[in-house]
Amino acid sequence: MSAVTIPIRAASAGGCSDAPVLRERGQHEVFCGLTGIIWLHRKIQDAFFLVVGSRTCAHLIQSAAGVMIFAEPRFATAIIDERDLAGLADANAELDRVVNQLLARRPEIKLLFLVGSCPSEVIKLDLARAAARLSTTFSPSVRVLNYSGSGIETTFTQGEDACLASMVPGLPASAPNAPTELLVVGALADVVEDQFLRLFKHMGVDRVRFFPPRRASDMAPVGPNTRMLLAQPFLADTARALQARGATLLAAPFPLGVEGTTLWLQAAARAFAITEAAFDAAVAPATQRARAALARARLALEGKSIFFFPDSQLEIPLARFLARELGMRLLEVGTPYLHRQNLAQELALLPEGTFLSEGQHVEKQLERCRAAQPDIVVCGLGLANPLESEGMTTKWAIELVFTPIQGFDQAADLAELFTRPLLRRMRLAA
Ligand code: SF4
Repeated sequence: MSAVTIPIRAASAGGCSDAPVLRERGQHEVFCGLTGIIWLHRKIQDAFFLVVGSRTCAHLIQSAAGVMIFAEPRFATAIIDERDLAGLADANAELDRVVNQLLARRPEIKLLFLVGSCPSEVIKLDLARAAARLSTTFSPSVRVLNYSGSGIETTFTQGEDACLASMVPGLPASAPNAPTELLVVGALADVVEDQFLRLFKHMGVDRVRFFPPRRASDMAPVGPNTRMLLAQPFLADTARALQARGATLLAAPFPLGVEGTTLWLQAAARAFAITEAAFDAAVAPATQRARAALARARLALEGKSIFFFPDSQLEIPLARFLARELGMRLLEVGTPYLHRQNLAQELALLPEGTFLSEGQHVEKQLERCRAAQPDIVVCGLGLANPLESEGMTTKWAIELVFTPIQGFDQAADLAELFTRPLLRRMRLAA
């Protein structure tokens, strides 16, 4: 292993609840779970992500997060080289050396994630044991956790799920008689968190925590008093781990668009016995602003057709928003995994007869897409260029994860992510 490459760094039943889903297994085109580091390292400000991987992994992270090159990065790759792969070096000793070097140079790090990759899995490096060993060495100033971002095991957004799930066992237990607390689960941009916090406070929900926290020392206690709202649809393992710690999951659609955000906030309001009047007073101004802004986007998008390739797991909430609030026609909504329980409220809101697919056989799906000739295609970077060269208009799924899109004040920005490529195409054609 070479030295660390730090230099860079509640709806009613109906809709599609029981709709048949086309399940496909074949070649698929998605990023691996390492990608999550790009937004997670910005969120938890005293954490560091050390990928234990190859030069390919280092290149992926460095090029995807290249915009952060000016700042002291909070991620790096410990490169597994040929000697490690051939079993000639003691990979654990090398990893310890790299971690020692890193923590000596960066005393501000309080939480270190060892992130597994395809190569670390191939050589069966036991990162759970390494994390436990290093945690003992550096406790109490640094906690060391591990999760896998390997492309063998994870897609794109599952990296966040694996990362958050790895933190759940370390959350403190809430006191036996602790008052009911709301836990918002899933990384959100700080600006979005602040907006939600204001809305919760305005309606009378005062005890609100976010997970992941902005600082490693600010871990929310969890227990039977915890009511959790998922802010992202790709957190099945994290939700299960929190439920096992006693938390109750509040059923709700995801906070995309006016409708999704209202129902999401309403789920919390119900759990905290907030009156309808207090809820309406809290959300009315933001709702009105967002509706007015969306009316303009609707002029550009109404009647336009859209095709989703599976990528971020945001596809179903996005499709619901685009169909119901902007009048778009859904030709196919593909998702890497369909977690029916966490998405039950979303499925119930999808237009009846929406064509859903889970998993991917990329060639077959490309054929369906070409035959359908959608006005816009949501897909990964690998498919966008070929489809654009065939004359289709595309939207990169990854951009939808990097951009703050949740909440009332972001609803119009979210719509604009779809109007912009269509307008660009129209200008090119003119
Ligand atoms: S974890 Fe696997 S898929 Fe991801 S960059 Fe590394 S080698 Fe590639």
